[in-house]
Amino acid sequence: MTQTSTQTLQQTLSIVKPDAVGQNQIGNIIEYFEREGLSVVAAKMVHLSPDDAKKFYEIHADKPFFGELVEFMTSGPILAMVLEGSDAVATNRRIMGATDPTKAEAGTVRADFATSIERNAVHGSDSLENAKTEIGFFFKDKEIFPRA
Ligand code: UDP
Ligand code: MG
Repeated sequence: MTQTSTQTLQQTLSIVKPDAVGQNQIGNIIEYFEREGLSVVAAKMVHLSPDDAKKFYEIHADKPFFGELVEFMTSGPILAMVLEGSDAVATNRRIMGATDPTKAEAGTVRADFATSIERNAVHGSDSLENAKTEIGFFFKDKEIFPRA
């Protein structure tokens, strides 16, 4: 890992959610990340069980949308990826856009692919600490291929 005064090489977890996988948009979405300098250093398709989805989203267990979120995230396969690059956690969140696609900036993944606040095409870790936990949820160390 290299470090400069302002930017740090990081890894973050990205998920292409069942809506976007079902719409055949995996390649188009990865393009948004790659053209902003993030690299895919691990990837796998997974169909989450309800228990998996509840565990992954456990911080939202008390939210009113939790049941529907679990149902949505288990409705079809997802693509889980580790993205690597400069400030990858924040860079990925910027490329994704706001949770609610009606509030997402033009040109973001969610502005272009999400159909609702729930069916919003992608997940991205929201902190470096959560990125580490979420990467570990899907990947073993030997399944990740850092470029740096
Ligand atoms: N979500 C939802 N309704 C809401 C807020 C969130 O269905 O009112 C779903 C949506 O799929 C979102 C996920 O729950 O991506 C996790 O919510 P969070 O607030 O963590 O948003 P994110 O970090 O994905 O932008
Ligand atoms: Mg979140």
